Amino acid sequence: MKYWKNLSQGLLDLFLQSQCPLCERPTSTDFCTYCEKQLNRCQITQPEKFWGNDFPVFPWGTYSGSLKRALWTLKYEKQPKIAQPLGFWLGETWLKTRLKSAKNLIVVPIPLHPNKLRSRGFNQAELLAASFCQVTNLRLEKDGLERISETEALHSKLANERRESLRGAFQIGKAFRQRHPKAEVLLLDDIYTTGATAIEAADTLGKFDIKVCGIVAIATSATAKPQNFHLK
Ligand SMILES: [Zn+2]
Repeated sequence: MKYWKNLSQGLLDLFLQSQCPLCERPTSTDFCTYCEKQLNRCQITQPEKFWGNDFPVFPWGTYSGSLKRALWTLKYEKQPKIAQPLGFWLGETWLKTRLKSAKNLIVVPIPLHPNKLRSRGFNQAELLAASFCQVTNLRLEKDGLERISETEALHSKLANERRESLRGAFQIGKAFRQRHPKAEVLLLDDIYTTGATAIEAADTLGKFDIKVCGIVAIATSATAKPQNFHLK
């Protein structure tokens, strides 16, 4: 009996298996065991420390190795399903910290310019935010911001150049134009580097008296400033 049970389970596993989006090994979970282990090695142990930075940020991992590759695959190899587990992990980590006590937050993903959205087919930040909100039960507002100018790739630019090229890149989204939010906004992006995008987004909302408490991100290349460490 046990034999048949094992056999039928084995056949079922085989039937349910798909390819790992990062290495194409067969797997019945989001990533194969090897890639999941590699991704977990990128996880930051005390993400709350980054909440004390000049712009409060809560990252899941460091922007390197497998996590860098996963985000690249998500966006440029157009594998939107990668967003689900990553957003989930970010949400789970958020719930383990004292930051989770801020229950009345509205999560606003950093938007893409409509042209980019059309060519990519999805906004990775929106997919990550949907998964993050499923876990945390925070409210998602995907139309809180709009991107009105296209910026060239930012990764080769210095911090002040990034800030300059992003000036005026956003405007308040139709959801907030129609109804002013009562709660504070928590921004969400796939990668946090110099903070230029987050600051510009927060400034845009700030002009309409909408307060931004910080940003959550899957990966960061920034370092925490422990001397400023405090939780509001
Ligand atoms: Zn794999």
